[in-house]
Formats: sequence, structure tokens, C-alpha cells
Amino acid sequence: MPAEPECIFCRIVDGSAPSTQVYEDDDVLAFLDIRPLSRGHTLIIPKVHASGLSELDPAIGGKVFQVAQQVALGQRRSDLGVDGVNLMLADGRAAMQTVFHVHIHAVPRRNGDKLNVASRLLLRRGGSSPETAALIREGIGRPAADG
Ligand code: AMP
Ligand code: ZN
Repeated sequence: MPAEPECIFCRIVDGSAPSTQVYEDDDVLAFLDIRPLSRGHTLIIPKVHASGLSELDPAIGGKVFQVAQQVALGQRRSDLGVDGVNLMLADGRAAMQTVFHVHIHAVPRRNGDKLNVASRLLLRRGGSSPETAALIREGIGRPAADG
């Protein structure tokens, strides 16, 4: 039996670590962050390991971004009450990357939430629920609102 990968996100991809999944296709996986900055905070990752942008195949990077766009739109169309979304990517320790498997954060924002991303990075609590993931999936499946 092959050894379990050390990378936590590779373990999520191969199913040996749990995740609350939002989206999956052949190349990309999206799941809820275990220490969300806001309700619905989702991570979008390539299934193939790349520790940072320099290792990432640009074609796969394009697919990861396309899914991040769909997740962000899904969050906004969902019943989570999302007014805006921060898409963020930390590349390298100096940029506060802590998990060295490339990922895009999709952080839902609400009008007036006063979320200070930098300070919440240090203060956030646990919690990612299947109900929240289901609401985002439902949002991804919704047509765009007119206007
Ligand atoms: P970064 O600082 O951009 O590297 O962000 C890494 C993110 O991964 C953080 O927001 C963590 O809360 C999140 N994270 C770490 N381990 C897990 C996990 N097992 N499942 C879901 N999210 C995780
Ligand atoms: Zn990995």
C-alpha cells in the first residue's frame, strides 16, 4: 500500500482526510475551510500537488481559477446572504501561506461585516458545516439573476 501523503490537501484529495466538499471535477476540488474567516469560506485547490505558483501547471491554474469564479458566484447566489467575495491566494511563507499546496480562498463578505482579514487570520475559530456547503452547491447551480 502506498504511504499516505504528508500534504494535508493531498490527503483530502485522496480521501484519507475528511473535508466538507463544495465542488469536484477531474482536476479541481473545493471544500470548506476548517477555520473560516466567515461563514461559507471555501478553498479551491488543484487535485495534483503543487506547493506554490512556481510548481503549478498554468493550464491547471486556469481551471482552479474558473472553479473559484463559480464558487464565488455560487456563494453570492446562495441563501447564505453574501454581498461580496474576496478571492485570495497566499504564495510563499512571506505572504502568510501556511499550507503548501496551492489554494484559492473564496471568503464571503456581507455589507458592513467589518471583517478585517489580516486580524481574523490570527483569531478565527473552527466550524464548517455540511449545511453551509449544501447552500453553496445550490447557489452554484442557480442561474444568474437578471441585471
Ligand atoms: P493559507 O494561510 O493561505 O496557506 O491557508 C491555509 C488554509 O487552510 C487556512 O485557512 C486553514 O484554516 C485551512 N486548512 C488547514 N487544514 C485544513 C483542513 N484539513 N481542512 C480544511 N481547511 C484547512
Ligand atoms: Zn498536496
